[in-house]
Amino acid sequence: SGTAVVVGTRPEAVKLAYVARALGDRAVVVHTGQHYDATLWADVVGDLPMPPIAHHIAVGGRSRGEQIGRATELLTRLLIEHPVRAVVVQGDTNSTLAGALAANATGTPLVHVEAGLRSDDRSMPEESNRLLVDRISDLCCVPIAANAARLEREGVAADRIEVTGNTLADALSDLVPRTGEADTLLGGLGLERGGFALATVHRASNVDDRRTLAALADGLAALARRVTVVLPLHPHTRARLAEFDLTDRLAGVRTVDPVGPRQFLALEAAAGLLVSDSGGVQEEACLLRRPLVVLRNSTERPELLDGWCRLLGDADPVGVLEQAWADVPSWTADLAVRPLPYGTDSASARIVAEIDRRWPVPR
Ligand code: UDP
Repeated sequence: SGTAVVVGTRPEAVKLAYVARALGDRAVVVHTGQHYDATLWADVVGDLPMPPIAHHIAVGGRSRGEQIGRATELLTRLLIEHPVRAVVVQGDTNSTLAGALAANATGTPLVHVEAGLRSDDRSMPEESNRLLVDRISDLCCVPIAANAARLEREGVAADRIEVTGNTLADALSDLVPRTGEADTLLGGLGLERGGFALATVHRASNVDDRRTLAALADGLAALARRVTVVLPLHPHTRARLAEFDLTDRLAGVRTVDPVGPRQFLALEAAAGLLVSDSGGVQEEACLLRRPLVVLRNSTERPELLDGWCRLLGDADPVGVLEQAWADVPSWTADLAVRPLPYGTDSASARIVAEIDRRWPVPR
């Protein structure tokens, strides 16, 4: 009667912790160990209501193909030994795909949280993972109606799709600190509300190529000449900066270790400008009504291109980031009054209610 919740990376933990909490003692949390760094994981789950991990398999640090193959093999074995009523996967990582394949191989109902997102950029492995998982899911939980329409256009039967909202709304209502608490935190870091930019960079397409990473570092350094830039450095990015001898190019940027979601959300909510190649940060920026420059060519969240965020595309990061900072006052004023594309209700509770309806368990 348990429900497996497969997690492997930081965004999956943030977006599934509240689903796992809503499942209560029926949640069987399985951690694939895909994350790049153990401390990164510990900082993240420390802030979240994630039930204890029931099964831990270790697939970290291999190539994409090896990760998917190894995790699929181990997860399949696990599901045979410990059958569950359903497997829940989230998003677009290699762990997501492996969880989906293992569910499929064992005939276990498969639930995909954050289904229906598409960037139409097949050069990103995340896009292939999304496409494949949606094809074989028994229940596609999509954040907004546009994602459902997209799945139907691709031939996914309407009765396999449910618009459940965005589980980040649960994380935000639980973790974003109240103003007083946030101001104490900001004061401790020497930051003022609205008076700094917050940046993250970790996508392989940005950090594994020296020229791209150098251009981004130059852009952040240029922005840092106008405003304090705080950059929690993903361990993968830190390693690449050192390997490419680019660490000094970030002159003036305040690089710090990654922080837990509670602190990160507090910083996001208070930042004048956000700069990131993250998927989750796009949704958080929107829900927190903060301006964001997306350090990518495409987004799987096109609903945000209508004024919420700007795509860097092929432009020079220096010019785009300087202009973005100049535009912050008018941009922020516009975001304050826009209707949100995402609902703010509890998506996690809706997802669990839908799982219970489709695959009831005696309580
Ligand atoms: N995040 C965090 N600490 C950080 C940077 C990000 O807790 O230093 C959180 C952030 O709030 C968001 C999630 O991590 O919920 C995004 O994860 P990431 O950018 O690693 O993955 P992506 O969303 O791009 O797949």
